[in-house]
Amino acid sequence: MLRLDREFWKVEICMSGVRLSPAVSSLKPSATLAAAAKAKELKAKGITVYDFTLGEPDFNTPENVRKAAVAAMEAGHTHYTASGGIPELKKAVCETYKRDYQLEVTPAQVLISNGAKHSIHNVLAALCGPGDEVIIPGPYWVSYSALVELAGATPVIVDTTEESGFCMSADQFRKAITPRTRLMMLNNPSNPTGATYPIDKLKALADVAVERDIMVLSDEIYEKLLYKGAEFKCFATFGPEVAKRTIIVSGVSKAYAMTGWRIGWTIGPVDAIKAMDNLQSQETSNPCSVSQYAAVEALNGPQQSVEAMRVEFEKRRNYVMGRLQPWREKFGVTFAEPGGAFYAFFNVSSRFGKPLAGGVVVNNATDFCTALLEQAHVALVTGDAFGAPGYVRLSFATSQEVIKAGLDRIEAFLAG
Ligand SMILES: *Cc1c(COP(=O)(O)O)cnc(C)c1O
Repeated sequence: MLRLDREFWKVEICMSGVRLSPAVSSLKPSATLAAAAKAKELKAKGITVYDFTLGEPDFNTPENVRKAAVAAMEAGHTHYTASGGIPELKKAVCETYKRDYQLEVTPAQVLISNGAKHSIHNVLAALCGPGDEVIIPGPYWVSYSALVELAGATPVIVDTTEESGFCMSADQFRKAITPRTRLMMLNNPSNPTGATYPIDKLKALADVAVERDIMVLSDEIYEKLLYKGAEFKCFATFGPEVAKRTIIVSGVSKAYAMTGWRIGWTIGPVDAIKAMDNLQSQETSNPCSVSQYAAVEALNGPQQSVEAMRVEFEKRRNYVMGRLQPWREKFGVTFAEPGGAFYAFFNVSSRFGKPLAGGVVVNNATDFCTALLEQAHVALVTGDAFGAPGYVRLSFATSQEVIKAGLDRIEAFLAG
């Protein structure tokens, strides 16, 4: 377990004498976006880069959704809306959870925001402040710790292992709780590991949350992207005692290939939702009006495109797993198979201190990624960004040709 203090995140800020707030000056830019930027630099030089840094589906937004957006514009839905979202979208969210998970929620329990990342920020800003601790199972999504810090609270990282499928146990959760614990942040299925919690393990966490009266933020943005029979259960569906301590975060970005539209939501207790709506009304007003109408169509319209994209992701996932499997023996690479999301997360530390292709020797995952990009023009994200030294993340949200060619190159690089 690791309590991160401010010094840990300190970065040198070069500036023209502008005085920044302590909260912002200790903030790091998103590491995944930084890795993608490096790859872009090479591409701009005319070099073919096999880019696996993408944290978004590579498909276009389904046609019915695009058309609904055009219709919304033509109908004049181009003005401010209610700060917390249009009633049609809140209703569509309620109906979706009833349809998919038999979860009964009212529109007053729903807040629509500018993407799920904004939803997470709202939760943290509304619930946490200085002196509070937020438990985060690691490896964790880059923005979690940064957003906790931004709220002035302290991230408490609970490291999980590959052997456990990167799932935090109830025992680990219980041991991390202190009188200052305000919230636990769960991401199921997980970015970056692809971990999906088996229902009994998830239930055990829910029991601890009730027993110790801890709020849980359950980020379920990858709920529709499940593979090979992996189970998913919406955290709030473990009964009313769990539901009243749960804030669900999700959105349309991943399931409907709608990252650019910026629509996410929180579902939780009415008073918490009201507080977040107040906050949002002061900070950003409403999420984009046109995007909200598009999201209504995404949720209420035909769902075949979601399954079509999932099937394509599953094909790629299986191909990637088939390629990684022999690397265990050949290179000592280790990994847990992803049950959801669209990432392969593997440990390359067995190759540290030994010559890779071109005679390069690296001693950590960040240098590994830099060398791989320079030598083989393959872009991965370092596990250091996710609190997982020795690991790298490969996003398979890219074409099968790129995946094949990129894996060939990684293999040659590892072989030395
Ligand atoms: C992509 C992602 C989100 C949210 O994305 P938005 O585009 O802001 O809706 C939230 N959590 C995780 C873990 C993600 O990977």
